[in-house]
Amino acid sequence: MLNVMKNLKETKLYKVLKSSWLCLRFPFLYPRNRFDGRHHRYMLQHVLWKLHSKAITEFSISIKTQKADDNTYRHSYFAFLNNQIILKKDLGVLIIQNGIDKKEIQLKDIVDLKKFSVIGMEVIFSISGTPVIQLYVKNIDVNDTTNYGGGYKKVELIADKQYNFRYKLLTWIDEKILDNIFILPTYTELDAMEPGWRKAFGIQMCKDIRKQLLKEGNLFKYRILQIKEKWGELCWYDAHSSTEIYKIIEKYEEISRNICIICGKPATKMSTGWICPYCDEHYPDDKTSECNKIEDGKCKE
Ligand SMILES: [Zn+2]
Repeated sequence: MLNVMKNLKETKLYKVLKSSWLCLRFPFLYPRNRFDGRHHRYMLQHVLWKLHSKAITEFSISIKTQKADDNTYRHSYFAFLNNQIILKKDLGVLIIQNGIDKKEIQLKDIVDLKKFSVIGMEVIFSISGTPVIQLYVKNIDVNDTTNYGGGYKKVELIADKQYNFRYKLLTWIDEKILDNIFILPTYTELDAMEPGWRKAFGIQMCKDIRKQLLKEGNLFKYRILQIKEKWGELCWYDAHSSTEIYKIIEKYEEISRNICIICGKPATKMSTGWICPYCDEHYPDDKTSECNKIEDGKCKE
């Protein structure tokens, strides 16, 4: 009997039913995209991402201030894979093209040309592998030492027409059709909480928040942006919140420091390195962490 129950709990249907029930009780647990608020499904994400990477070349443009007498960066042309990047300073325009697509960026839209003049560029890669067109600018007034702040822009260039068509079509199907069919959640925002914390106070925390939201008439507007663990403590990021809600979150963030993240029992130790609270049983047997006793969520040794 126990085995049957265990197997049942691992089925997709059980997960959908359990998640749906949770989202009915606590609407803010419904998984949504944090930018557009749409129901967040994992279904096509991987395929869409793959298609997008084949269909589109993405460039970032960033701006950096150079000393007025620095000649190092006065390049105005770059060939990058199949793309040409041309800086026409005199015309005030940056052109990125690859034979399929062409984008012209007016320098005045990204640089304050009254204060800065563009002196050159270079192409570098960001940590995530995105090519970055670094534009170098200098202060027109030599006595002005202002550093350029901001001026960051993303540019997308179609790299493959066929893949772009497939990407657009699939995005349309995803948003206009699948979004309206698959409305039942397969997971909830609460799944991101450490299992021990979820077990110890997850539902109680949701109840407290719902109670306050009902008081404020804000139950359907309140959103969770992210739930995670940081420095051994629960972090609960939200939108459309209130001071009273913050108080509830703060209370549980404090409680979390004294609860084992694996099982939910009172924590007795705090790992170092990757700081997390654990009970004696679940403390990682790992030489990089040192054993620390904890008191009020802090290491005590
Ligand atoms: Zn434990």
